[in-house]
Amino acid sequence: MIASSAFPVTKVERSKKNELPASNIPFGKYFTDYMLEADCENGVWKNIEIKPYQPLVLSPSLAAIHYGQSIFEGVKAYKHSDGEAYIFRPLDNFRRFNISARRMQMQPVPEEIFIEGMRQLIALDKDWIPNKPDHALYIRPFMFATDEMIGVKPSDTYKFMIILSPTGPYYAEPMRIHVEEEYTRAARGGVGFTKVAGNYATSLLPAAAARSKGYDQVLWTDEVEHKYAEEIGTMNVFFVIGDKVVTPDLSRGTILAGVTRNSAITLLRDMGVTVEEARVNLDDVAAAYKSGQLKEVFGTGTAATISEIKELQYKDTVMKFDPKTWKIAPSIKKRLDDIREGRTPDPYGWLLKV
Ligand SMILES: *Cc1c(COP(=O)(O)O)cnc(C)c1O
Repeated sequence: MIASSAFPVTKVERSKKNELPASNIPFGKYFTDYMLEADCENGVWKNIEIKPYQPLVLSPSLAAIHYGQSIFEGVKAYKHSDGEAYIFRPLDNFRRFNISARRMQMQPVPEEIFIEGMRQLIALDKDWIPNKPDHALYIRPFMFATDEMIGVKPSDTYKFMIILSPTGPYYAEPMRIHVEEEYTRAARGGVGFTKVAGNYATSLLPAAAARSKGYDQVLWTDEVEHKYAEEIGTMNVFFVIGDKVVTPDLSRGTILAGVTRNSAITLLRDMGVTVEEARVNLDDVAAAYKSGQLKEVFGTGTAATISEIKELQYKDTVMKFDPKTWKIAPSIKKRLDDIREGRTPDPYGWLLKV
């Protein structure tokens, strides 16, 4: 179908890399010289090309704008001391992308375009990857419906793209989290397990309300009783209770199956720590806090890696922590960062060389 040879490249006249700040690169604000673009019409992929990063020309009747067939992924690549670039678990993001695509009645993207296209794109922009601890190249694959017609139906045409953004640390400080009891992110039978654009639009109002009360983010709860933990913003959540680690299970289809979540579970189990995937009742979490058994609470996600939580407010219980005294979250963050940034061997085959 598609030759595994190089996709066509239109070269930039001049790199804009000198516009990138030397330090404190803000998340998602700077984009590299190149982007990948591909079109799908009636199930056939075509016009696969790499070209200078530039604006798109779109019709006002574009299907994605009106009815929301729009999905994305978030992946990271790292520069190792050998000077080569390595992508962290991109095949997992590829599979999840197509899970989102199927739920949204969109065309699945072939591996050749998603993975090979990503490698060829990164190879061109390799010099943009910061070679510093906690710095990476954030990779944003996305797809949206491009039919030029108003009407609620699956689009016949789609555009798939990848853009790249060099980035520094995301949530550098430990976070204060508000447990959400009014709004719902996802319900059973819905789209919580997908990275569909609309999921993030609906999270903005609750997040703003939490921020106005001094919190950084909300911890979502189940849609029925608002007492079972789901996830935080764009992160999965972990609780260290006694000598066990507990994280919400994925069986209800309301939680994003994070690649970082899976990596953290794997690393913890290999370190000999018991990890339970289960429904996490926040009344039990608050009781564990009161009895001194709740040791650590943290989030996991590609953008943020491991984010420590220093305060968790649930109903009238305010749980406060001193992450400087923690053992579990810092040790898996170190283990994960050492693998991703190439300081220790990768026994899991998680890294794909560009
Ligand atoms: C992306 C995302 C995560 C984290 O997934 P990773 O694969 O670890 O980056 C968790 N929750 C939501 C809602 C997300 O969008």
